[in-house]
Amino acid sequence: MLPKYSLIVPIYNEEEIIPELYRRLSAVMNRLDGLVELILINDGSRDRSLQLLRELHQKDPRICYLSFARNFGHQIAVTAGLNFVRGQVIIILDADLQDPPELIPDMIEKWRQGYQVVYAQRTQRLKEGWFKRFTAYSFYRLLKKLADVDIPTDTGDFCLMDRQIVDILNSMPERTRYIRGLRSWVGFQQTAIRFERDPRFAGEVKYTFSKSLALAINGLVSFSIVPLRLSTYLGLIAAAAAIFMALLILYWRLFLPHSPLTGFTIILMAIFFLGSVQLVSVGILGEYIGRIYEEVKARPLYTLAEVGGFYPKSSNSTNNADKLVEAPYSKRDEDS
Ligand code: UDP
Ligand code: MG
Repeated sequence: MLPKYSLIVPIYNEEEIIPELYRRLSAVMNRLDGLVELILINDGSRDRSLQLLRELHQKDPRICYLSFARNFGHQIAVTAGLNFVRGQVIIILDADLQDPPELIPDMIEKWRQGYQVVYAQRTQRLKEGWFKRFTAYSFYRLLKKLADVDIPTDTGDFCLMDRQIVDILNSMPERTRYIRGLRSWVGFQQTAIRFERDPRFAGEVKYTFSKSLALAINGLVSFSIVPLRLSTYLGLIAAAAAIFMALLILYWRLFLPHSPLTGFTIILMAIFFLGSVQLVSVGILGEYIGRIYEEVKARPLYTLAEVGGFYPKSSNSTNNADKLVEAPYSKRDEDS
């Protein structure tokens, strides 16, 4: 029988958390009115995480796991989970218990009321560092201003989605998966549930500054072409400044006995200004061209080294997951 609820949790070097995660999740899973599957995606962890996942899978048949052949990143790990879900209601949460599993029943309640997407919105993240709070705060507001779909502020990937939504997400071919954006793009009835974000239960933050920055740029570039226009604007401003300066110099030459323009300073400034406008514009262009390049290559989003659970395979899965399962992963499950 197919499960009703599917929980997706990406795991990257979370050995310290997995036992507690399982304890908190299974307490919630036991309370749900229907079969539950818990899909854990090992995103190329270098610690004992995969070992722990295997043990959990042995112990609890509700647990399935996917293991990537290397680290592909959080968004791709969640995408893989979405490719494999069999439930009617899908819930995505982080492994570090910053997304309290105890909120799941409330989310399901909203789903019963007819919402297809219930996303969790952070009211405050007092216990995170000021830098993270400040950058996250500004980024979400900038994104809201620039994006052509209405992406709610201060929401992460912690959400509940109906099967309908997940099928649409799975049919989207794009490679840069900014899930919280794609989720908003789909539409349907969406609602928020507010919560206070706890600090990480244990371990280091796995999103380094550069990973967060990459995620932010992906979000912006995938959901807005305003940055492209920005280079046009910058170019226009530079041109206006140049024309103004040319007129000024002409005036000085014609009407003043000695031109007040002496020295290299002003020339140097102009060169630097124009140089930076051009570099920024090329950089912005590059971001978009890079995306096109990624799309055109059309490589698979991830490579699976091992899969545990998921038998029998879902008959209604329409995505590339089936193809990927065929890949030579270790056949641990069939032996056991
Ligand atoms: N994660 C992952 N792959 C990565 C980085 C993170 O699967 O390359 C997972 C991680 O295990 C956790 C979630 O993504 O379950 C969020 O990571 P983290 O808590 O470090 O980031 P935060 O969003 O709290 O800054
Ligand atoms: Mg976290």
